[in-house]
Amino acid sequence: MICPICKRPLRVPGRVVSAKTTDSQHIVFSICAACTRAESTLPKITQVKRLHRAAVVAMADPARYGVEAFDGRMNANMAALLIADLAGHHKRGVA
Ligand SMILES: [Zn+2]
Repeated sequence: MICPICKRPLRVPGRVVSAKTTDSQHIVFSICAACTRAESTLPKITQVKRLHRAAVVAMADPARYGVEAFDGRMNANMAALLIADLAGHHKRGVA
């Protein structure tokens, strides 16, 4: 899997993102730890734009970016929580 922001291999997963695509699919993907750290220094609006861009990149090649699609926002948000939980951290982002 690859981080949709920096395009580096996702060795150390960071934030698990739940996002809605432009064609109204609810997806979940992860960004790397370095991008998650960089993100925390950005203003909220920039973070949201960055995650939306990441979602577009990820949807262009879902298998490569480890994208999972869900039926509805609730399911996507729940899945993001569970994935973050299983990964042993509680970082979550909703874009
Ligand atoms: Zn990254």
